[in-house]
Amino acid sequence: LISARGVDKFFGDFQALKNIDLDIHRGEVVALIGASGSGKSTLCRCLNRLETITSGEITIDGEQLPEEGKELTRLRADVGMVFQSFNLFPHLKAIDNVTLGPRRVRGLSKVEADQQALGLLERVGLTDKANSLPAALSGGQQQRVAIARALAMKPKAMLFDEPTSALDPEVINEVLDVMTELAEQGMTMLVVTHEMGFARHVCDRVVYMDQGEIVEQGDPEEFFTAPRSERAKAFLSKIL
Ligand code: ATP
Ligand code: MG
Repeated sequence: LISARGVDKFFGDFQALKNIDLDIHRGEVVALIGASGSGKSTLCRCLNRLETITSGEITIDGEQLPEEGKELTRLRADVGMVFQSFNLFPHLKAIDNVTLGPRRVRGLSKVEADQQALGLLERVGLTDKANSLPAALSGGQQQRVAIARALAMKPKAMLFDEPTSALDPEVINEVLDVMTELAEQGMTMLVVTHEMGFARHVCDRVVYMDQGEIVEQGDPEEFFTAPRSERAKAFLSKIL
């Protein structure tokens, strides 16, 4: 569904991504892990064209990512993104954060968008918070609104960039539970995470990056118990 071929990304002279080849198949849940600065966020941002790539090719469902314009808006809507900092609009109630995209980009009426949003807020366990402003919600609740907002665009795939890193420990699980449910419902997902339990038990595959390269990837159980590369061994020995 998502395919990157020979992707390089430079920031000036600095090469943040080095010849990245990555395929994420329909229904697959992939964990992207690696040390700080290894290029995980950059790769996510390139996959939905928040960042331009220097060379290589990225396709979403067989279509090459266009440079700009309407086609880009449409293709970008196919790939939902959830960030570490929830990025909700602070002046909009939870429900209005969820309906904004569908009304603007998909042209839904207010009634249709509200109905869909209520369904999504129920799915993330926030029916009773529909009319709350973000400031009145906990971090975990805000992140669940952000997930509902991304789902409202009916994406074919979801990218999560450290969705729980900014959260207090006691609310991390409520967000991971929503993500686990999405995974079980067959959503295609790429998840940058430091939650190794989630990577190991929920994801179908682990991709390990270091210094802008994909060093190793494979079955989570194999990766965590018997990493092949020295770099992955060193990384795991630091975090486990
Ligand atoms: P973390 O785990 O800390 O989030 P990461 O793996 O997501 O790290 P990236 O944010 O992708 O890492 O950054 C990869 C490298 O690219 C870093 O060395 C970073 O300094 C550099 N970089 C990222 N964005 C830019 C930018 N806009 N301009 C210049 N350099 C950048
Ligand atoms: Mg990052």
